[in-house]
Amino acid sequence: MAFKNEYLAKVYDKVCARNPGETEFLQAVEEVLESLEPVVEKDKSYETNGIIDRIVEPERFIQFRVSWVDDNGNVQVNRGFRCQFNSAIGPYKGGLRLHPSVCASVIKFLGFEQIFKNSLTGLPMGGGKGGSDFDPKGKSDGEVMRFCQSFMTELSKHIGADTDVPAGDIGTGAREIGYMFGQYKRLRNEFTGVLTGKGLSYGGSLARTEATGYGVCYFTEEMMKCMKNESFEGKTVVISGSGNVAIYATQKATELGGKVVALSDSNGYVYDKNGINLDVVKQIKEVERGRIKEYCDRVEGAEYHEGCSGIWTIPCDIALPCATQNELDGDAAATLIKNGVIAVAEGANMPSTPEAIEKFLEAGVMFGPAKAANAGGVATSGLEMSQNSERLSWTFEEVDAKLKDIMVNIFHNSYNASKEYDHEGNLVVGANIAGFLKVADAMKWQGVSY
Ligand code: NDP
Repeated sequence: MAFKNEYLAKVYDKVCARNPGETEFLQAVEEVLESLEPVVEKDKSYETNGIIDRIVEPERFIQFRVSWVDDNGNVQVNRGFRCQFNSAIGPYKGGLRLHPSVCASVIKFLGFEQIFKNSLTGLPMGGGKGGSDFDPKGKSDGEVMRFCQSFMTELSKHIGADTDVPAGDIGTGAREIGYMFGQYKRLRNEFTGVLTGKGLSYGGSLARTEATGYGVCYFTEEMMKCMKNESFEGKTVVISGSGNVAIYATQKATELGGKVVALSDSNGYVYDKNGINLDVVKQIKEVERGRIKEYCDRVEGAEYHEGCSGIWTIPCDIALPCATQNELDGDAAATLIKNGVIAVAEGANMPSTPEAIEKFLEAGVMFGPAKAANAGGVATSGLEMSQNSERLSWTFEEVDAKLKDIMVNIFHNSYNASKEYDHEGNLVVGANIAGFLKVADAMKWQGVSY
């Protein structure tokens, strides 16, 4: 992409030179900088204060060895990461991803996105992300525990309730957070809100499990209502993934009157024309840790198809990609558009490729980008931090009501920014700008450190 603004072009060239081969990170930076063009054109102080030069460089990037012993007594070595990207508006905050695809580029892209997402929530949280190339799939509980303890032994030196507060992400659910929290407490002899996504018996927040999926639907409902006077009522919905985000997006979309007809995992997808039976999915995925394929053995009339990308060929009104990055490409977008999709909102981080986003925007499909649409998870993590600081627990209804307010506000702030900067309805531009302005202002006030 050629930036019209010289300052942005110069910064982006430098990012490419400094981070060769880090395709996910460069993709995320390019998208954000492109959106910021009207902002830096309008106000030169972002350039004179070197705000863009600084915001694309992590404040700290930690990489470490994680060794552990498997059930056969063999030593295993994984690589751990924590990227503390930006602390201008609060302690670093962002999840820990455990997946074989985790590398520096993936962690930096996620950490960079997290800066703007956290800012959009309106809560005081900086941006960070971490994880490891460890794959919890197929490992015993004992192996997962030993890995998590070893991982936290190093990570504990860099985090803290007022410094950096990690959370879950792909591969890191309640089990992993529990093992990590236990190890942190043992090492530091302190019971603090150092992690979010904790179990309810030791400081977790009600509604955190549901928050990202519910939040995507609250955002989508508001987007459809305000932009086209539409709603979930009577709509056919396709949701990719079958993990935490996908499951609770399915639940809320159904409650709001939609019919979710498909879910997937990295092997394939299920199509159930009668509407997905979520109790069956929860039993398979949350209790048995099984594969989505097993749904068809238990629900009559449901079909299974190998290969996850085929899910986008199912005709639907609303598509919610909730699995992983770059899972929805230009061809998939074209098929969805041909089949009449009216709204797409990203539950996963960066699930749509730049080509897909371009096609949706050109076709006038309402499009909710990840950093706005899936911010409900981190927002509720922020609410968990508040409860931990107060040493109080709020009710499910209280947390859910706050989550809904936050998602509605994120939509309006993004929409208003898109209008103010002459891109009305382009929420990619709007969310990037709205998220950026607050962080940039805080960076200006705090000066440059020498
Ligand atoms: P989970 O680990 O619970 O679930 C991930 C799901 O995505 C699984 O069904 C997994 O299938 C599927 N998946 C993974 N890789 C691929 C692939 N290459 N192709 C197709 N499907 C794939 O993770 P979450 O639900 O927590 O996270 C999903 C996305 O949402 C991620 O992008 C995450 O960063 C984002 N997110 C999550 C938040 C949260 O609160 N959990 C908050 C904000 C964003 P399989 O079992 O086969 O691997």
